[in-house]
Amino acid sequence: MRSWLAQYEMRSVSSLDEALGLLAAEPGAWTPFAGGTDLMVLLEAGRLPQRRFLDLWRVDELRGIAAGPDEVVIGALATYTDLLRDPVITAQFPLVADAAKVTGATAIQNRGTVGGNIANASPAADLPPALLVYDASIELVSKAGLRTVPYHAFHTAYKQMDLAPGELIRGVTLPRAGFRSAALEGCRWKQTYRKVGTRRAQAISKLCFAATAVVDDRIREIRIALGSVAPTVVRARHAENALRGRALDAHVISEARAALGRDIAPIDDVRSTAEYRLKVAGNLLQEFLS
Ligand SMILES: Cc1cc2nc3c(=O)[nH]c(=O)nc-3n(C[C@H](O)[C@H](O)[C@H](O)COP(=O)(O)OP(=O)(O)OC[C@H]3O[C@@H](n4cnc5c(N)ncnc54)[C@H](O)[C@@H]3O)c2cc1C
Repeated sequence: MRSWLAQYEMRSVSSLDEALGLLAAEPGAWTPFAGGTDLMVLLEAGRLPQRRFLDLWRVDELRGIAAGPDEVVIGALATYTDLLRDPVITAQFPLVADAAKVTGATAIQNRGTVGGNIANASPAADLPPALLVYDASIELVSKAGLRTVPYHAFHTAYKQMDLAPGELIRGVTLPRAGFRSAALEGCRWKQTYRKVGTRRAQAISKLCFAATAVVDDRIREIRIALGSVAPTVVRARHAENALRGRALDAHVISEARAALGRDIAPIDDVRSTAEYRLKVAGNLLQEFLS
C-alpha cells in the first residue's frame, strides 16, 4: 500500500442528520465514504488527496429500494447485489439489473453502491446509461433540505457534477410509467444493455450502451445512452431524433448511425481507441435497431 494510514481520519455516523450536521459544520472538510470500492483503489495507489472521511455505511436512511405506485426510489447505499435481488428492479428496470450483473464481481457487487458509482462520476461507469434511459432523477440532501436534479443534467463535465459541498446523494428515482401511455397501448417495448470490455467482469468498459424503444410499425419512442464515449455518460439525442416516428429501413438506420456520431466524442486511452469506440457504438445501435 502506497498510503500512510495514520494520515487519514474516518468518522462513522449512524444517522443522516448526524452526517449532514458534520458536513454543514465544516464545509468541504469531509469526503463521503460509502462502500469504498473506488476510494480504496486511490488509497492503495497513494493518490487519495482528501484526508478526512465520513463513513456512511451505517446510515439506514440511505439504504433500501422503495417501490411506490408511480416511482421506485433506490437509496444511495443500495449495492449492486441489492439491485439484483429486488423484484421490481429486475422485472421493470431490467437494464439496471443487467448493468449491476456486469459491474465488478461478487465482492464489488456486495459493497459498491449506486450513490458511489454516480458521485465517482466516471464516464465509463456501467450503471449510468441504464439510469439515463429510464429517465432517472437524483435526490440530493443537505442541512438546507432536499432538491432533485434530472440525471441527464447532473454530470456537467468530466468528473464535474451538480453536487454542492455539504450535499449527499440520497437516492435515485425511477419513474414507473416508463413509456406507458394510452397513445402507446399495444406497442412492443424493446430494451437492451451491452457492456463491451476485455472481460465480462472486473474490466472497465471500453464502451457501454443502453437503449429502450417502443415500436409498432414505426419507432414511437426511443431513448439511447452510452458510457465511455464522451467526458460524461451521454443520452444520444441526435440519434433518438433521427429515429423517433420513423419506420426502420437501411436508410434510416444509416442516418441514425451518422447522428450518433454527433452525440459522442470518444477518445483514445489505455483501454481502447476513438475509432474502435465510434465503430462499436454504431454497431450496437444497428444491432438493437435490427
Ligand atoms: C475491482 C473493481 C471492479 C470494479 N468494477 C466496476 C465495473 O465493472 N463497473 C463500474 O461502473 N464500476 C466498477 N468499479 C468501481 C466501483 O466499484 C463503483 O463505482 C462503485 O459503485 C462505487 O461505490 P462505492 O460505494 O464503493 O463508492 P466509494 O468508493 O465509497 O465512493 C466513490 C465516490 O463517491 C462519493 N460518494 C459515495 N457515496 C456518496 C453519496 N451518498 N453522496 C455523495 N457522494 C458520495 C465518495 O465521496 C467518492 O468520491 C470497480 C471497482 C473495483 C475496485
